[in-house]
Amino acid sequence: MTLIFDGNDFKYELESVVKLFYPAKLFDFIFRGGNDGKSRLPDDDYCYISRVREKESSLLHVIVKSESKTSELSERISNGIQNYDGECEMALGRLLFSALKNVTGKSPEWGILTGVRPVKRVNSYISLGMSEEQIVQRLKSEFLCSEQKAHLAFKTAQSQTKALESLDKNSFSLYVSIPFCPSRCSYCSFVSQSVDSFSKLIPEYVQKLCEEIKYTAGITKSLGLKLDTVYFGGGTPTSLTAALLQMLMKQIEESFDTSSVREYTVEAGRADTITEEKLRTIKSCGADRISINPQTLNDSVLEAVGRKHTVKQFFESFELAKKIGFETVNTDLIAGLPTETVESFMSTIDKITDLNPENVTVHTLSIKRAADLMRKSGSVIDNPAKEMVAYATQKLGALYKPYYLYRQKNMLENLENIGWTVDGKASLYNIYIMEEVQTIIAVGAGGSTKLIKPDGSGLERIFNYKYPLEYLKHFDLMLEKKNEILNYLK
Ligand code: SF4
Repeated sequence: MTLIFDGNDFKYELESVVKLFYPAKLFDFIFRGGNDGKSRLPDDDYCYISRVREKESSLLHVIVKSESKTSELSERISNGIQNYDGECEMALGRLLFSALKNVTGKSPEWGILTGVRPVKRVNSYISLGMSEEQIVQRLKSEFLCSEQKAHLAFKTAQSQTKALESLDKNSFSLYVSIPFCPSRCSYCSFVSQSVDSFSKLIPEYVQKLCEEIKYTAGITKSLGLKLDTVYFGGGTPTSLTAALLQMLMKQIEESFDTSSVREYTVEAGRADTITEEKLRTIKSCGADRISINPQTLNDSVLEAVGRKHTVKQFFESFELAKKIGFETVNTDLIAGLPTETVESFMSTIDKITDLNPENVTVHTLSIKRAADLMRKSGSVIDNPAKEMVAYATQKLGALYKPYYLYRQKNMLENLENIGWTVDGKASLYNIYIMEEVQTIIAVGAGGSTKLIKPDGSGLERIFNYKYPLEYLKHFDLMLEKKNEILNYLK
């Protein structure tokens, strides 16, 4: 398919609108100066997106031709309005979306809201004093969002109120990256190394990580920042031995004043790494929230994606975590895994709700991962993720509240990831990172620090080296980079 931009350069936003309808297609691009009108259109499929500037307005015009169907729409925007160019881009997005909907018969539910954080936008509307009805209306008319998704975004924002109000602007969260897993799951898009191939390096990695924690604590102390939440992620943090986990958690306790910590999460992740000794260590070192992630409760699907644990192991680990007394247990699920059917996913949701974890997070597989996987397994990209997510939203919506929601580029059916919670158990870390309201300082390979000015006026990112080997090799250089935290936040 060819995308022709005539008299405008809105390629970035408008290409993402076309991708909602043709996720797996590659596009050719033609840019024109706005003088040709509709002449010279290709014989094959195309989207023609034109803006003709006139004296007091712009004439916007979209033609979509696909598989012998054509839709042509236009609109005039007057130049007397605020943010004239931005409004023209939005209006072209809506025309394009509607024309694509006409020729494909599809209607992606988030409309042209293609960004990662729809709830952030809703929170900004709430802060302007808008009501639920006004917000839903705006999401529908401006972004062509479905009624259901608009309400979902509003409800999610509502669940965040308490966490956002209780945020101390002088606080930060600490993210500890453990980029190791016992083996690689086939859908994984993270930087994660198998424990076997790195076993010799892991003690050295943990030792360097302790040094980085100490160094970081020096910086946050001199800035007078309070430690608010701690999050161990990866990878699979419980790939480490109990002794190494203890070493790291003790280092945090010794380096920071942990009396201000309100939430401490360790993502245990895979059940094949969880032992009673590790869970007891994690609990005794201060963590109160743990994540045990089955992704699916179907052994055949687990096997198909190379996740080397069983459903039985997940249930045993969950029971163990409850017995040991973790206050909050989260379980992650993925809609759209290869070989998963709507029925088998529904049964996963039913079994999870029977377990009653405090948090459930439902992810949607990304198209890129799906395409790679489907290619290998020989099945098609036609994935029933939409029905799976609809069932999860309906069932979990009756028992839980959505408390954070985000999207990644190219998710199946342009869907979303949603964190669900019972009352009073919403994860502060997840809300703060998604809404970009608190500084998150990351330590370890693959960690990305996100600095937020206390008055919310700016955001800066600092990336640690991605792979453990690079991390160890350039450790001193990386510590030097950490000083940018001082320069940015002082
Ligand atoms: S457990 Fe998670 S991080 Fe590790 S390989 Fe599997 S998907 Fe990737």
